[in-house]
Amino acid sequence: MTENELNRFRTILTAKVAELERFTRHREGITVERSADQLDEIQAASQRALAVCNLDREFNQLRNARAALRRIEEGSFAVCQECDQDIHPKRLAAVPWARYCIRCQEIIDSNLEEIQAPSSDLSVAPPDDRRYYVQGTWGRASRAA
Ligand SMILES: [Zn+2]
Repeated sequence: MTENELNRFRTILTAKVAELERFTRHREGITVERSADQLDEIQAASQRALAVCNLDREFNQLRNARAALRRIEEGSFAVCQECDQDIHPKRLAAVPWARYCIRCQEIIDSNLEEIQAPSSDLSVAPPDDRRYYVQGTWGRASRAA
C-alpha cells in the first residue's frame, strides 16, 4: 500500500472517529423516564433498547476505527491479523477498519455464531457495562481456536 493510499485511509478513519465520538458523546445520557402510562413505558423501553443497541454498535465501530488508525501508525494496516496476507483493497474501501482478510473474517464469523449459541454461558445476558468485555473475550477466543 502506497503512502498516498495510507494517507487517504488515515483521513477517512480520522473523520469516522470524530463522527462516532460526537455520536457516542451525544448519546451518553440514555435516559430512564418513568411514565404512568404503561404503553408509553413499553414504548420508551423498546426505544431505549434500540438506542443501547445502536450505541453498542457505534462504540464497537469507534474502537475498530481507532485500532485501524493505530495500525496505520504501526505499519500493519491492510495486513490480515490472522494470516498476514494483504487485505483486499476492495474490502478496505468498504470496511476501512477491517482487521482480517475476507477468508479469515468468514471463519471468525462462523466461530462466533457457534460461541453465541443460546446454550453458551456467555450469552446469559451480561450487565450492559460488561458486554464489551465479553465481546472482547469472544474475539480473542475465536482467534486462539
Ligand atoms: Zn487472513
